[in-house]
Parts: sequence; structure tokens; C-alpha cells
Amino acid sequence: MKIKTVAMPEDRMNESHYLSAYWKKMFRTASEKSVSDIHIEPNEPEPGKMAVRFGIMNSLIIYDIISDSDTIPSYLNRLEYICGLDVTRKHVRQDRSIELPSFKSRYRVSYGPPSSMDPESIVFRVIEEKALPDLDRCYLPGHFEQDLKEFLKMEQGFFITTGPTGSGKSTTCQAALMSIDRKTKKVISLEDPVERSLPWVRQYEITPTFSWEEGISTILRQKPVVCLIGEIRDSKSGFAALEAANKGHLVISTLHANSVSDTYKQLIKKFKFDYLDIQSVSLCAAQRLVQILCPHCRVKNMERGQYRKGQGCDMCQHLVPGVSGLRPIFEHCFRPTEDDVEEFRQSGIFPVRSTLRQELRKLIDQGLADYTTENMFG
Ligand SMILES: [Zn+2]
Repeated sequence: MKIKTVAMPEDRMNESHYLSAYWKKMFRTASEKSVSDIHIEPNEPEPGKMAVRFGIMNSLIIYDIISDSDTIPSYLNRLEYICGLDVTRKHVRQDRSIELPSFKSRYRVSYGPPSSMDPESIVFRVIEEKALPDLDRCYLPGHFEQDLKEFLKMEQGFFITTGPTGSGKSTTCQAALMSIDRKTKKVISLEDPVERSLPWVRQYEITPTFSWEEGISTILRQKPVVCLIGEIRDSKSGFAALEAANKGHLVISTLHANSVSDTYKQLIKKFKFDYLDIQSVSLCAAQRLVQILCPHCRVKNMERGQYRKGQGCDMCQHLVPGVSGLRPIFEHCFRPTEDDVEEFRQSGIFPVRSTLRQELRKLIDQGLADYTTENMFG
């Protein structure tokens, strides 16, 4: 069920047509600026306009606002034609992978049908086929890396990593899968959507007719040693994942939560796990991506001896001004004990090695992160 990437014919972006020229220029700029995603949003920032925004390092920046309301449908139609979307099925969600050979770019295109409030929207996410995530190059903090590698050697177990959208959860999960000897072990993933093709991983994708629950039972029948369940959405899929982890599989999954304590609270309240069940979650982590300051233009606060983001310089301005990259930080708990669970039951706080706040503080003290973001995690 791997998604085939379709190479779009070059003539769809023939520059003699002004609409094609517009989109061609946009794709060229996106490719030059190494954006991670492109958002086409009719009715933004107000009715009669259309915003085109680029995602760069977890922030959206405005590429253009089209203000001529009469021509917006033509812009959209031309873009849908360029991407090979089915214009006769404008009322349904469409997902496809395309390649634009002239820019050496591959995109995952998600078409959202019109709602009662807004017209259709289109989001492109860059598919990076070349760089497969590698645990040794993810800048994982030492104590977390050690426990994650320990987990990956286990015969069975359950790893849940949590965080908001854009916190790097899927990269962590994919890097964990890539570190497993997949030639000798059966590895299966269930994702929504499949973001990139992973060698020696059987990848399944959730569709309107293939649910999480159905997906989990399908993959478990194929006797995997390791399975990635993209996201736990409800108690049925949560229990199916837990059962798999208790019956000899190594299960890796994600959840939308803010912290390790919040994850366990959700498992109990929303997904109806009991206190014994949560002890089966062998490794639970919460993660965020932190902007790392450009060392050439960061600004020192003499009183504090710490740094904040600079205005941008020749070394960093091709991306976000003042920022040279992103680095993940984690709080986690590995192999929770009965005492840990008891402490959580009484206080509502799960003991972790080091909190997200403490981890951010370390980066600030090293001059790597902006001290004004210190209170980001409360
Ligand atoms: Zn700089």
C-alpha cells in the first residue's frame, strides 16, 4: 500500500500561461528556500483574498496574498490541474504524492474539500526521500538516547512519544524504526498519511475506508516483530496497541499530549487504561523542537550572560533570521516502577528524569537557545 509518487508532466507549468507562471515561480521559491510545506488558503486573511504561506522551521511565513477575488478560482483550478487533482471530485478529501521534476521536489498533496465556512484548501508537504532519519544524527539528549536504544533491544514493549504537531514525533519514530535490523525482522507501519517511503518497512495508510482499528488488526495478523502505529486516537486503538505490546511485539506510537504526566492522564481518562496498564508503557516521552540560535548574530545579555535571537546575518538569513537549526528536547520515563505509578496516582505528576523546562534551560545556559523563551513550558 505504498503510495506511488506520480511525476507531473512539465507542460502543466508552461510559463506562457500567466497562472502557470505564478505557480511555477512559487514552487521554484519553495524549493530554493527549503520549505517544509506550502499552504494555499482561500478566504485568508479575509473573504475575497487568498494566502499562500510557506512552512519554514516550524513557523509559517507569508509568501503572497492574492487580492483579486475574481481570479482566485482560476488560480486554484490551475494549481489543481498542475497537481493532477481530480476536479470532478471537489467535494471529497484527496491525497496524492507528486514529483515536480524541474525542481527535483516531491510533495505530498492534501486537498481539503470546501466546508460551510471556507472554500477548498490545499497543503503540500515536502517528501524528503534522500535523508532517512538516523538516531545517531537526531541530536537526542544522551539520557533519552540511551533509554530509547535500550528499549529497541527489548523483545516486547510499548513506546509512546507525545507532543503538539510539529514537535518532531514522526521523525523520532521513523529514526527508531530505521535503527532496527529490518532485513531480519518484520517491521510494519500504519500511518496517516505515509510521509515517506521507508526501506524494509511494510507501510499501510489510513484512508476513509481503512480505519485505525482495522489497520491494527490487519498489521498484527502479519506477524510483525516491530510495529509503528502512527497515532493513538481512541480507546479501541489504544488497547489494541497495548495488547500487541503485551503479546510479544515492540510497539511504537504517538499521542497528542503536552507532557509525560499529561500522556498518562489521557491514557487513563480518555482511553480508559487502568493504573496497571500504564505500567506496560515501557517508554513514555514528551518532546519539542527548540530553535537553535545562529552563533554569528545571537545577542548577548551581559547581565544574565545568556543569549537571545539576533536580527539575522549572511550565515542564517536564508532560513529564519537568527536561527541556525532545530534540536529536539525530551522528558521521559523508562520502565516505570510501581512506586512511580503510585506517586502519579497520588500527585497527578509522573516522575521523569528531567523536565522539558529543565532541558530547555540547559540549552539556554549553553548559549544555544533564546533566554526569552525560558517560560515556554510554564
Ligand atoms: Zn545569523
